[in-house]
Amino acid sequence: MQTFNDLHLPEALLKSITDSGYTTPTPIQAQAIPLAVAGRDLQLSAQTGSGKTAAFVLPILTRLIESEQKSKRPRALILTPTRELALQVHEQVRKYGKELKWLFSVPLVGGAPYGGQIRALKKGVQIIIATPGRLLDHMRDERIDCGALDMLVLDEADRMLDMGFADDINAIIEALPETRQTIMSSATWDGAVGKIARRYTREPERIAIKVESAHIEEKVYFCDNAEHKNQILEHLVADPEMGQAIIFAATKRASEEIADSLRDNGFRARYLHGDLPQVKRNRIVEDLRKGKCDILVATDVAARGIDVPAISHVINYDLPRQVEDYVHRIGRSGRAGRTGTAINLCSLADRSQLSAITRYLERKIEEHRIAGLEPKVTSKPKTKPGKKFRGAPGKNYGNGKPGEKKFDGKRGGKKPFSDRKGGDRSYARKGNRV
Ligand code: AMP
Repeated sequence: MQTFNDLHLPEALLKSITDSGYTTPTPIQAQAIPLAVAGRDLQLSAQTGSGKTAAFVLPILTRLIESEQKSKRPRALILTPTRELALQVHEQVRKYGKELKWLFSVPLVGGAPYGGQIRALKKGVQIIIATPGRLLDHMRDERIDCGALDMLVLDEADRMLDMGFADDINAIIEALPETRQTIMSSATWDGAVGKIARRYTREPERIAIKVESAHIEEKVYFCDNAEHKNQILEHLVADPEMGQAIIFAATKRASEEIADSLRDNGFRARYLHGDLPQVKRNRIVEDLRKGKCDILVATDVAARGIDVPAISHVINYDLPRQVEDYVHRIGRSGRAGRTGTAINLCSLADRSQLSAITRYLERKIEEHRIAGLEPKVTSKPKTKPGKKFRGAPGKNYGNGKPGEKKFDGKRGGKKPFSDRKGGDRSYARKGNRV
């Protein structure tokens, strides 16, 4: 079996890797590190949990160590779609680079005060980890000297494009020296992300790793309606076997509702979504990491990059709208080689989405039932051929499902958990950022 020694990494990095408790490189690390150290452009397809961050961070540090000049001009830029992921990557840069006293790095993310970021840039850094919007702000104000930048990473590039960062990314890359090395990671190379890859990488080596999810047990519980779904959720989170859990909701509002209800029921639950100030988002993730909170109810965007080893369960209260998100979500459990459980609460209207997910995964997700809470409805209600079920005029239907009340958006008033109604997915479908 290959060891980190076989990758010929500098001593200082081998020490911090050993201190992190890692002995063998993951497959993506074993394949990507030698090529990246040699300066090759790369297209990485590896899911979260594969160790892909170290696969580009270790080569960046190696190349910095090996270069003669240790000036404090930015040499590497790592772009990520979300603030959480940027902070997570920054933590890994610090972890692996802890022996390098001359190394300075800064995360430039939105929602954080400008002051500290400007001070760090003035003092000088070799590595910048950033979300596109905030980086562009600094670039426009000429606070970033890109002249020496020779390593660029676009992490989760597909997601950055999904989030509407295409113009920002183009503007950023156009301002960088052409002689740089470019490493991209993405779940797909079709469409816009393929175009970016063709435009900005030179003779890239493609490395695709399929992560074994065998250490994450996947289950589905079928739900008749929102009330039934909430009863099942209540039952699941009361299980003493459950360590820390992340519950995914489709909308910000639904995440608040679910977290409030869980708190009303005595659980240490918090919600996390993109409307919260960054400082608060960081504090919540820190509380989760420190064990001050057991359940985090989150939207997709906010939960990206969360790496808390004690998370044993991921519950999809609402199934993800994009199948790739499923993999990212369940990867929040079973971190660092542990086992995890991924639970899907699937309403009738979500069954086609569940099929899309299992087709994408090329595996089945086993149905489980809770005694006394078995689903009563086993197939979709019949509608006239060729006609979509739209419900009676003037009636509210949550998620377009019959017999389910639409979430009215009113907070206030403590209700028993199972009285709460499901999240309003149509809110998210209308293009509201979650
Ligand atoms: P990532 O896919 O980069 O988000 O990493 C997933 C998790 O694996 C993180 O908690 C890393 O710290 C951890 N990790 C990275 N490399 C290794 C390795 N070689 N052996 C064990 N764990 C690792």
